[in-house]
Amino acid sequence: TVRVRFAPSPTGMFHVGGARSALQNWIVAQQTGGVFVLRIEDTDAARNRPEWTEGILSALDWIGIERGTYEGPYYQSTYADEHTAAATRLYAEGRAYYCGCTRDDAVARSGNKHTGYDGFCRDRALGPGEGRALRFRTPDEGNTVVVDMVRGEPTFENKLIEDFIIARSDGSAVFLLANVVDDMTMGITHVIRAEEHLPNTPKQQLLWEALGAKPPVWAHVPVIVNEKRQKLSKRRDKVALESYRDEGYLAAAMRNYLMLLGWAPSGDREIVPWSVVEEEFKLSEVSHSPAFFDVKKLRAFNGDYIRALDAEEFAAVCAPWLGGTDTIPAPPWDPAAFDPNVFAAVAPLAQTRIAVLSEIVEYVDFLFLDEPVSDEQSWNKAMKEGAADILDAAAAAFGAQADWSAEPLKAALEKVGEERGLKLGKTQAPVRVAATGRTVGLPLFESLEVLGRERTLARLASARA
Ligand code: GLU
Repeated sequence: TVRVRFAPSPTGMFHVGGARSALQNWIVAQQTGGVFVLRIEDTDAARNRPEWTEGILSALDWIGIERGTYEGPYYQSTYADEHTAAATRLYAEGRAYYCGCTRDDAVARSGNKHTGYDGFCRDRALGPGEGRALRFRTPDEGNTVVVDMVRGEPTFENKLIEDFIIARSDGSAVFLLANVVDDMTMGITHVIRAEEHLPNTPKQQLLWEALGAKPPVWAHVPVIVNEKRQKLSKRRDKVALESYRDEGYLAAAMRNYLMLLGWAPSGDREIVPWSVVEEEFKLSEVSHSPAFFDVKKLRAFNGDYIRALDAEEFAAVCAPWLGGTDTIPAPPWDPAAFDPNVFAAVAPLAQTRIAVLSEIVEYVDFLFLDEPVSDEQSWNKAMKEGAADILDAAAAAFGAQADWSAEPLKAALEKVGEERGLKLGKTQAPVRVAATGRTVGLPLFESLEVLGRERTLARLASARA
């Protein structure tokens, strides 16, 4: 059986690139009836934190890789003895040697053109000791050919592969070896991971062979870049899956979008049901070129997913923003002022307008706040000369309405405009800001209908005060 794994290091927020690798591994397991293994590579004690591990687990859950449906999580730190044993074995079998060189020594010997370790200690037959690392003796001849489902058969000349370190002077194994030993122990058949690990692959394949096992099939998926074609970085770009979640991206939109980074379903389509992605995804169709993480496109995508929800689903996905959670800030209104029926009355209008769920708050806050929030700039923009007259006339015209609903309110304001030779837009602006606090928002007359006679008239009056 096919056994794949996702092996994140818990050193920070969960990167969208990691999420993509996880999904690809997951799909391959689904397609082949194989097993998905989760392994937390928590060997860097200085940089690991338990909350990052928790963040990875919950973010995986969120995009549909749910706890209990995969094997693991295993924790790499619990296998330290196995890693050391593998290093010891490679030494015992003459495949590795102790080296007492410092980095500076090696650099100095190469005339400051350090391109890799020069093999100085190869034949010095040093034993273990203070300051001595264990290096793997790489072959001097031949090639290492990697079978890669995305990239074909990348070929590496062995003589260009340096004798790399596999264990530190304290005996602990380095990442390259620990990662291989765990993959071997866990029976991994396919390693699907980011392209940045491709340079490690020939070294790791040599380790597999030296340890007497058949190397896995590899798949290195392209790097993800921003609009400037720079590799996504956590300092520059928004890379944390959690932050997209907390901004109001839907898991379904997010995971679909992530799968489009370097791959596309058949036909001229992008938004396809997840079942189609699961059916059609093929590593052999994944592109070699960097994949552009287009936040604008993701937003548009998310908007489409939001619009596809039914009323009940929409209310459910908005709920965290309307009430707040541990990670989502509480809305600006008093919780007691929130009325689900009032929300339901405007929800369909908001649903067609928002691209991310967090935006719901600014569209509906005027309904639940005593005073609408307004910034000075919007206020000044709408309250130009003539606004006072329009507000007075609107208040009078609205006040005279027996039927407080959108159509007659609109007709009443149109009449105010006609009498002054103004287009509807001009008369709407001050009324909108007075009633909702904003220059853009839901359709005005529907908003006023839901806001109600009393509150609308009070706000028009207070805008004049
Ligand atoms: N812990 C490594 C990483 O997060 C795993 C690399 C691999 O998938 O082999 O980059």
